[in-house]
Amino acid sequence: MQVKSFEEYHQAYQQSVEQPEQFWENIANNFQWRKKWDKVLEWNFKEPKVEWFKGAKLNITENCLDRHLENNADTPAIIWEPNDPTEDHRVLTYRQLHDKVCQFANVLKNNGAKKGDRICIYMPMVPELAIAVLACARIGAVHSVVFGGFSAQSIADRIKDAECNIIVTADGSYRGTKEVPLKSVIDDALVQCPSIKRVIVLTRSHTPVSMIKGRDVWWEDEIKKVETQGNPECEPEEMDAEDMLFILYTSGSTGKPKGVVHTCGGYMVYTGYTFSNAFQYQPGEIYFCTADIGWITGHSYIAYGPLSQGATVVMFEGIPTWPNAGRFWDIVEKFKVNILYTAPTAIRSLMSFGDDVIKGKDLSSLRKLGSVGEPINEEAWHWFDEKIGHGKCPIVDTWWQTETGGFMISPIANVTPTKPGYATLPLPGVQPVLVDENGKEIEGNGVSGNLCIKFPWPGMLRTTYGDHERCRQTYFAAYENLYFTGDGCLRDEEGYYRITGRVDDVLNVSGHRIGTAEVENAINMHSSVVESAVVGYPHDIKGQGVYAFVVSPEKHGDEELTRKDIIMTVSRIIGPIAKPDKIQFVSGLPKTRSGKIMRRILRKIAEGDTSNLGDTSTLLDPAVVDEIKAGAM
Ligand code: ATP
Ligand code: MG
Repeated sequence: MQVKSFEEYHQAYQQSVEQPEQFWENIANNFQWRKKWDKVLEWNFKEPKVEWFKGAKLNITENCLDRHLENNADTPAIIWEPNDPTEDHRVLTYRQLHDKVCQFANVLKNNGAKKGDRICIYMPMVPELAIAVLACARIGAVHSVVFGGFSAQSIADRIKDAECNIIVTADGSYRGTKEVPLKSVIDDALVQCPSIKRVIVLTRSHTPVSMIKGRDVWWEDEIKKVETQGNPECEPEEMDAEDMLFILYTSGSTGKPKGVVHTCGGYMVYTGYTFSNAFQYQPGEIYFCTADIGWITGHSYIAYGPLSQGATVVMFEGIPTWPNAGRFWDIVEKFKVNILYTAPTAIRSLMSFGDDVIKGKDLSSLRKLGSVGEPINEEAWHWFDEKIGHGKCPIVDTWWQTETGGFMISPIANVTPTKPGYATLPLPGVQPVLVDENGKEIEGNGVSGNLCIKFPWPGMLRTTYGDHERCRQTYFAAYENLYFTGDGCLRDEEGYYRITGRVDDVLNVSGHRIGTAEVENAINMHSSVVESAVVGYPHDIKGQGVYAFVVSPEKHGDEELTRKDIIMTVSRIIGPIAKPDKIQFVSGLPKTRSGKIMRRILRKIAEGDTSNLGDTSTLLDPAVVDEIKAGAM
């Protein structure tokens, strides 16, 4: 499934466009099916209705577990690093992971779970989270993982939307020095959720919890029951390629979360293929993805993608800054990590601690680096490249979305020449187009527009749970026969793609279209800036003015001087047109729990309309909003 040269990439790409069905059929043949498809693809973007590998039968866990047992049973599947570095790490081989998944699948069955049921999972980043996810897939239940930091209200909304009947959780979780009482949050959420008949609670933090008779059971007790029943195996449920595999709610940075639905066959093929190809994964390599399984990155590139390829995945329970900001580098050294996949927000945060925390860490095992989540600004890209990769590791800047299931535009490690800030080129099978406001395709190079995809790919969403019309409206109605990503993008002279931020975040300053990401990129070049967020606000003369929220540790220095300096920097890098009209220094930005800036809140504040900030329940630290409101200019 891997291309080995830039020439091979171009060949594969061309084939994928000219003969997409044949291309994907070849890829799909690398997986294990109970029955192969009658038809590779049927689709229209009007309804939309997209079906891949129609008529095929499979179980994704057979591909992620059973098929590795013959030759790689003793290969580590998951290496788990706990929050507290003095606690022992754990290793689960493919054999052990298989057995544990079967065991817990039987627990689910004992507790009444059936194929098609929706099961909510609200857990810390411990191996049992991956086990619970795979156990659902084993029995054909649909998992809906809710990140273990969400509030009771957010969980209740998601449980009600999906009508879940079981929830799997833990007593509590550790994040740095904090202890989060997960079960107690669940108890609050469940007041509103009569559909939940069973709560399965894993012991992690030993936080006292109250258990409700007839509803709540302990994970460990249920495992013991399965053991005494003496049936360690759990036959995988035979699933149709288009049966639902999971629901995952998007992070909510642009509004009410949507329950994105992925199905078994296409998602398996797409995540396995893109993982293997983009990272050029080689057997034996140690791969560390710093995301939480609660996000799509964790679903596709901690769980399903790597495991279907027999990879060894490092899973980390804690946070990058505890006990100190060298934690990632300690983990790299400890497990001799070869591939590190993380996010710009983490990179920028770690950068701000200076080079001392990297000094003396052995990062020589690293071969490939990856980035996901937002456009990576050039300064962070160079720091990642030089300080972490020592100039010898390609940076795989993967652009994709919850809705796309897997990587869409991304370099292939050691194959695609990289370029700072660019996601580079579409992977084989992906057909991006740029369109103007009227949906007219903008052809040629050296252009920018709204990023759409014009042909289906196997990992794409099929619907939004319980509301197909919303799926159509959100993604397929803006432009006829195109999937609309919501992102703005430029294609440079060489045909390389650079994401310029969300379309809503493109400013129109005196008739010039400027991506907020570009301005932020320039601001972040300034030595005393940790990070920044730029939004537009109504401006009498320019139409839109540029309002910058800037996090700077030198906040207490001469603010006016720094302000002038930042304006000069932007002017020099992009041009005077992009100069911020207002710069507000803040101690932090409002971020979702996946680390994304909630720009719609900043937009409201910049517009001076702070009365209705909308749903802020998915914010990491709501207090920061009050501070920003108070200091608004
Ligand atoms: P919501 O859709 O609820 O607003 P979200 O879009 O933040 O939430 P995700 O699906 O996790 O939820 O994020 C996908 C978005 O993240 C993309 O549309 C894009 O804006 C941004 N993104 C992800 N990876 C990259 C990347 N490598 N470069 C630039 N932008 C990226
Ligand atoms: Mg989105």
